[in-house]
Amino acid sequence: MAQAQKITPRAKDFSEWYGDVIMQAQLADYSPVRGCMVIRPHGYGIWELMQRALDDLIKATGHKNAYFPLFIPMSFLAKEAEHVEGFAKEVALVTHTRLRATGKTGKDAIAIDPTSELEEPLVVRPTSETIIYAMFAKWIQSYRDLPLLMNQWANVVRWELRTRLFLRTTEFLWQEGHTAHADEAGAEREARTILDGVYRKFAEEWMAMPVITGVKTESEKFAGALRTYAIEALMQDNKALQAGTSHNLGQNFAKAFTVQYQTAAGGLEYVWNTSWGVTTRLIGGLIMTHSDDNGLVAPPKLAPVQVVIVPIWKTDEERSQVSGVGSQVKADLEKLGVRVELDLRDTMKPGAKYFEWEALGVPVRLEIGPRDLASGQVVLARRTGGKGPVPMQGVTTSVTKALDEIQAALFAAAKERREKNSTRGVTKTQFIELMQLASGGGFAYGGFCGSATCEAEIKEKTGATIRVLPDPEFRSKDVPRNCMWCGAPSIAEAVWAQAY
Ligand SMILES: [Zn+2]
Repeated sequence: MAQAQKITPRAKDFSEWYGDVIMQAQLADYSPVRGCMVIRPHGYGIWELMQRALDDLIKATGHKNAYFPLFIPMSFLAKEAEHVEGFAKEVALVTHTRLRATGKTGKDAIAIDPTSELEEPLVVRPTSETIIYAMFAKWIQSYRDLPLLMNQWANVVRWELRTRLFLRTTEFLWQEGHTAHADEAGAEREARTILDGVYRKFAEEWMAMPVITGVKTESEKFAGALRTYAIEALMQDNKALQAGTSHNLGQNFAKAFTVQYQTAAGGLEYVWNTSWGVTTRLIGGLIMTHSDDNGLVAPPKLAPVQVVIVPIWKTDEERSQVSGVGSQVKADLEKLGVRVELDLRDTMKPGAKYFEWEALGVPVRLEIGPRDLASGQVVLARRTGGKGPVPMQGVTTSVTKALDEIQAALFAAAKERREKNSTRGVTKTQFIELMQLASGGGFAYGGFCGSATCEAEIKEKTGATIRVLPDPEFRSKDVPRNCMWCGAPSIAEAVWAQAY
């Protein structure tokens, strides 16, 4: 158990466990710059698979990829009042463009060249609405140019004080979609298409992570948006993770950047914008949804290695026999598009290899030993539990079937866990108790009066926030009549949780 012991059990300290899983699975590491992270190949492999699936879904809904600059003139951020308020506290600025050698030694060997000060500082993009809509203003003239549907894959910087690998880092990777529409209905349809048809679909079908959808309250919405929709997932410590957001920006940015179009009738109108994004935070969500005390559990669709073949031998003759069969099985699986590794290292015992591949989250392991071969079988072990012989004949079918079953079982288990930790129709007393539980409060459904004061007081007293006002599919059968906190008439059911 040498490997597994390096991971703190979830029940002991969830936060330590999370860090240990990342280190053992070699997903990421801390960088020399505080708050930034290095994404290691195994972690980046997951991101690449996420990107590929999301990119396909985004393109299938009519969007094209483009790229906009990292630097944004500082004055651009000032143009939309709410937006500047929302991001001012966390932007990185470029004020100079040169260093000079001083002739001294050590850390004094270079200094900022004061003559290189920029006339207008540049903001390192915290998000790209401002620079993209400045360009949209040039490109959109008539109703024939609409809708304009774009996406970019990029990095952004938000100067965070409290950071955590994948979940909250100063620099992170994401996609940000930006669209312009002729009317409100077009923008609204777009914001919902992305939320339901891209983000929810991706979370549930690829990540095997069930989500609830809904709209954010005024105090939780994106700075500068008319409405923000979100997908929210419940992690194993019963905290919520906002996993993706889709904003109907209304005409706020169009007015700030004068993005206008000529209507068919010859009039001049402002466009309606949307923006939407998901980030490398999703990897944190994947870890906290499925992984266990032995390390990462990766859903097969997003596992960089889906199958590992571990041959077992004692003699050279056995080695050549089992590795020959292993290579053949590997080739056969690769033909089916399965991502597979053959572990022929002779510096490690099979047991140590198992622990290592388990920590990496590989869904299926095939053990091939001389005795198995003699009886025409191999041993198939699932990362999520269960191990037994399968016939050598048709082993590829057994593997692909197991991968499909694991994918489905992970989703079902996560959904069951979420439902078990959702409380409907909470009263104030119940709610306070829930949010004090050491095991975490989960999702609490209750009536909400719509008051920001009430929201703020709840946050201060319990640390919980409204994750969403849920869509009809997720609402309780009994419509709440009163705000669970203040007792005033309820305007909507809300889902509260402590959140990342
Ligand atoms: Zn209230």
